[in-house]
Amino acid sequence: MRVFADYTGPVADRCDVVVVGSGPCGAVAAYELAAAGRDVVLLEEGPPFTPADFELDGARSMARTMREGGLRFTSGYVMPTMQAIALGGGSLVNSAICGRCPDFRLAEWAEAAALERTARSDLDPHYDAIAAFLGIAPTPDEVQGRRNLLFRDGCQALGWDNEPCARNVVGCRGSGECFTGCRARAKQSMDISYVPAAIRAGARVYTSVQVQRVLAAGRRAGGVEGRVAAPFTGAPGPSFRIEAKAVVLAAGVLATPLLLRRSGDLANRSKQVGENLQFHPGTSVMGVFPEPVEPVFGATQGYQSLHFLREGFKLETLWAPPGVLAVRLPGSGLELEQKLLDMRRAAVWDCIASCKRSRGRVRERGRSLQPAVHWRFHPDDARTLGRAVWALAQIFFAAGAERILPGVAGLPDELGSLEAARVLERQPPRAADLVVASTHAFGTTRMHGDPARGVVDEDLKAHDLDNLYVVDTGVFPGSPAVNPMFTGMALARRSALALAARI
Ligand SMILES: Cc1cc2nc3c(=O)[nH]c(=O)nc-3n(C[C@H](O)[C@H](O)[C@H](O)COP(=O)(O)OP(=O)(O)OC[C@H]3O[C@@H](n4cnc5c(N)ncnc54)[C@H](O)[C@@H]3O)c2cc1C
Ligand code: SF4
Repeated sequence: MRVFADYTGPVADRCDVVVVGSGPCGAVAAYELAAAGRDVVLLEEGPPFTPADFELDGARSMARTMREGGLRFTSGYVMPTMQAIALGGGSLVNSAICGRCPDFRLAEWAEAAALERTARSDLDPHYDAIAAFLGIAPTPDEVQGRRNLLFRDGCQALGWDNEPCARNVVGCRGSGECFTGCRARAKQSMDISYVPAAIRAGARVYTSVQVQRVLAAGRRAGGVEGRVAAPFTGAPGPSFRIEAKAVVLAAGVLATPLLLRRSGDLANRSKQVGENLQFHPGTSVMGVFPEPVEPVFGATQGYQSLHFLREGFKLETLWAPPGVLAVRLPGSGLELEQKLLDMRRAAVWDCIASCKRSRGRVRERGRSLQPAVHWRFHPDDARTLGRAVWALAQIFFAAGAERILPGVAGLPDELGSLEAARVLERQPPRAADLVVASTHAFGTTRMHGDPARGVVDEDLKAHDLDNLYVVDTGVFPGSPAVNPMFTGMALARRSALALAARI
């Protein structure tokens, strides 16, 4: 593996397959192709991180691991959205929740996108193989911490489905630090799982390189080129060029479309590159209990409820660095100090909505590779998220909370009983009332059986080229209803095996 300090001059290499992006999708694809005996080069713009590099302070951590320092926003509806820049991509800083896309949602995908072999039974062998490789398993009770178990108790009291989150974690210590990087190296992020396995299988990995263009002529891609990019500053270094028999793009939902557009509007006869952007908007509610909760202890996101999945939302427990959570506490001065002291007795839970009608698009910002992201939060979807906030309120009071902080504009800062919280049911919050963020995105290079309506086919090969594949979560034709990483990896694995059989 090469790191920034290794580059003393222009880089040139040649291989069977070049994979762009080492997030969950690119890392799986690189490993499967290398394991199948193909000569693979994996390129990543971010640097590798070791436990010594992780910052516990949320703002500092985001400044180093996230694109635009974690301050990337959508326009239209203004919402922060986070994408990582690191070896391992989002897996380095995510909560490791691995959910399989439910049957009903895959059936909707099949109908909407003319898919013939993307049912759950088609994906299960790939989910199974990845689960075995990464040790994906339900979070054990011993590391849940009170914050997560209270969520379970509340759901049980209401008779709502609940379950420990399955995660790609082995030997979790319940430190609640997933968001800033797992110092225990328990989380099986790609940098310590699939990427090293790809290297063992013969892949060459170049980090701190920014791909700027896909080389292509007619229906064939010939490789990629770009520049070395210094960690954290992006300062340009020497140029590089990798020639390959096939190109696999896994730069992520907001980056891959820009690469295609900069490369002569590649793979875009359908005019769908950069369109159909969808998010899982999410928001959180804090509840204060009579007894200490000590929420810093426990797996970051250890419990979830899929009870309302068909109604369009998922409920989860959550933890993030206190400095990040404190941003949404009301008040200032002594009042804020009291709220901060209350955090020892608090739990934070979140909800994400799988939107039916909200859509956006991504375009280049000037001449840079930074995206201009436009997204509109449809009122129907905002109402769904509002219903999810009401559901969280019910779980809190069923679990014994003395009050909640709903974080909804126009409502009191605190609601002290279930009766008081019923205002959330009577007047579901509107989009402008909610503090929303999103880390799950899809759709900008969507898979579609009809070449006129999508960018890639069911093997994730570009309709317009014979040897260009896109394997990141941009290929989802819609929301997967649950957290996206696992489904992205399953589709990437299937695609990589198909490509390996073709070259
Ligand atoms: C804080 C956070 C928590 C999350 N929690 C969960 C969770 O618990 N479960 C879940 O399922 N999902 C979660 N997600 C979402 C999940 O991480 C993403 O869906 C997933 O990482 C997408 O994988 P990917 O391979 O498509 O893209 P990414 O992970 O975004 O990887 C793309 C990679 O490509 C690199 N790249 C981009 N452009 C270039 C270029 N021009 N040249 C070279 N390299 C480039 C990027 O640096 C990046 O490393 C979370 C995300 C975040 C940010
Ligand atoms: S909760 Fe802590 S130990 Fe467990 S996976 Fe996350 S960071 Fe690692």
